Amino acid sequence: MLQPHAFSEPIYSPRASATRRAWVDINLDAIRQNARRLRARAGVPLVAMVKSDGYGTGLLPVVRTLGAAFVGDDDTVRNVEAPWAFGVATLDEAAVLRQAGCTARVLCTTPLTVSELSDARSLDVRPALHRAEDIAVWSALGGGAWHLSIDTGMSRAGVRWDEVVPLASVLRDHPPEGVFTHFHSADLTDATRETQERRFLDARRALGHAVPPNALIHSDNSAAIAARGPSPGHLARPGIGLYGSTATTALGLEQVVHLRARIVDLRDVHDKESVSYGATFRASGTRRIATVAIGYADGYRRALSNRGEALVHGQRVPVAGTVTMDMTMLDVTALSNICAIGDVATLIGRDGDDCLFTEEVAARGGLSPYELLVGLSLRAPRQYFESTPTYPPVDDVVPP
Ligand SMILES: *Cc1c(COP(=O)(O)O)cnc(C)c1O
Repeated sequence: MLQPHAFSEPIYSPRASATRRAWVDINLDAIRQNARRLRARAGVPLVAMVKSDGYGTGLLPVVRTLGAAFVGDDDTVRNVEAPWAFGVATLDEAAVLRQAGCTARVLCTTPLTVSELSDARSLDVRPALHRAEDIAVWSALGGGAWHLSIDTGMSRAGVRWDEVVPLASVLRDHPPEGVFTHFHSADLTDATRETQERRFLDARRALGHAVPPNALIHSDNSAAIAARGPSPGHLARPGIGLYGSTATTALGLEQVVHLRARIVDLRDVHDKESVSYGATFRASGTRRIATVAIGYADGYRRALSNRGEALVHGQRVPVAGTVTMDMTMLDVTALSNICAIGDVATLIGRDGDDCLFTEEVAARGGLSPYELLVGLSLRAPRQYFESTPTYPPVDDVVPP
């Protein structure tokens, strides 16, 4: 049940309105613990993937938590070994880091267009390159560190593993700092990872001394780190595991994201009456229906209509009817005696002893945990804590 006194202090001051309607609590200490577990399991330094606003949790709070160097920071390395680098997907993400004074290494794993390379250079970003022309342009711009991207079966980006040989001469002239590949099914227990790994090795063998002996080799995302340990090579690139979501109960990763909303209306709905658009929910007998102030505009996805669950007073209640843009209805009949307007419902994450893990919520909606996390919209303000806060029942809240 709820611990009324257990409000933790947010570490970045939230908007005054933050917890009046719908919001996201982010447990930064859980990110730090997850980074430690992934680092220990991988056995090599991390490229912490912080693309897409730290998978929706907030780019700068994540980077500060993981112990990057910032200009003017005394406390550069907080409790965790700082990642070797931060991984981004766009130069705008890198620019946010640089503008905040972050001096850490930044690796952009997505191919850049040739017109972006000079910006990458001025932002001191390590690009992923794989075309001879691009490598030559990069070199002409001053030739900072870059990583060679090898496609071993994802068929998304990089040079095909069996077409690397024509790159040998340009690599000898402009050697890469690192060489990497990306697995397409590391979360599955099929043999594809071994196949990709063999291709990755074949490609490096085919390049011979064109790949410098001290090149940093990396391949593992969160699921690959979880599936084995230690990771081969010199670095590993976890993303979603940092944010507490990967099918890896074995690693004991902690839930980071807690999506909350207040109950803003309550009513009885009688036998055979319907709830929400399309009348997809019909009451059998009298049901107590609570309206929470969150909808798909906040990132609580419509796919969770009639399928999602929420925690109210630490107990699970089902979503009733279609999730609408700004409101979602819950069947709180089991809590009729205690449920009140102003109570907090948890749509993702922990309340009391129970937790709706990101994977579970995603699976209920037939969604990927990635799209659920990065789809949380900025209409729901993020609040940052060093632990997971709990919310007292409304009776205990002193009005401001
Ligand atoms: C996003 C990404 C990762 C991180 O993957 P997760 O499954 O989130 O751990 C690693 N490498 C590359 C190239 C990526 O694009």
